[in-house]
Amino acid sequence: MRVLAIGECMAELAPAAEPDDYHLGFAGDTFNTAWYLARLRPDMDVSFFTAVGTDPLSYQMREAFATSGIDSSYVLSVPDSTVGLYMISLENGERSFSYWRGQSAARQLATNPQLLARAMTEVDLIYFSGITLAILDVTSREILLDALRVARASGKVIAFDPNLRPRLWSGTSEMTATIMQGATVSDIALPSYEDEAEWFGDDDPIATVDRYASAGATTIVVKNGADAVHFRHGDMSGVMPVPPLNHVIDTTAAGDSFNAGILAGIAENAPLNDSITLACRLAGAVVQGKGALVPIDPTLFDAVSVKGNENA
Ligand code: AMP
Repeated sequence: MRVLAIGECMAELAPAAEPDDYHLGFAGDTFNTAWYLARLRPDMDVSFFTAVGTDPLSYQMREAFATSGIDSSYVLSVPDSTVGLYMISLENGERSFSYWRGQSAARQLATNPQLLARAMTEVDLIYFSGITLAILDVTSREILLDALRVARASGKVIAFDPNLRPRLWSGTSEMTATIMQGATVSDIALPSYEDEAEWFGDDDPIATVDRYASAGATTIVVKNGADAVHFRHGDMSGVMPVPPLNHVIDTTAAGDSFNAGILAGIAENAPLNDSITLACRLAGAVVQGKGALVPIDPTLFDAVSVKGNENA
């Protein structure tokens, strides 16, 4: 199974042990999912599709892809450009984020339709998010959505996390309309209830499931923090409780790692219940660590998936 994640990876400056010292890392929603997928299933081919600049920071990012076991054959280089950056500030233990991403090279990731089409023909499963759509201009969005539509028609599996981020959009109606366009080209939708309730007015997670099913997704898994996961897979619907945790440290990338668990299960043709169990266990481990990319021991997650079974 070959997986292609499409989106933006940013440089991250996180407070280090000494005051005023910062640690340089790399993170971003679809990249985080690719990173966890590569950790979880080192035997899987995971590629990341993005654009970076040609400066030293962009080369460092490319090196980070390579050392994470993520293939970067489809990473475009944009001359005279650089990657987006965010900085984490800590005040009385509370984290806040400042972003510099308006001019990032990733905004040009869909400027080469031939490369997009080729990358999609060479993989089995394609993953993108609402943030991937949000950072593109209208023309690039159309190019990406068209490429996904063609890939889906040719039998590729398309997975989508709406990841609603109003600050990245010019207005709420543009965001909600474009997110539903993303849903119409997707087989698998992985929304978060809290955001969906706020921006789409869903009364409960079942309303979220129904909306994505009406858009054409056949597998829908709705995350809801510590609350139960709602799902639909073809004709089958259900609810699965999230194992309670005593000590949640940092929920950054909870949803991204959860998605990696779902995609790993789907890639192995595991029953959806087992994929959700795997996703909850992985996200549970991630929220008990600090930062977006928490080192995990993949052997702890081996027993959860059932290789070779038909999807439930
Ligand atoms: P979210 O994106 O916040 O809805 O969370 C994604 C997933 O992370 C959830 O479906 C849970 O599996 C896990 N998770 C997030 N927050 C918690 C929590 N407080 N306790 C246990 N699991 C959590």
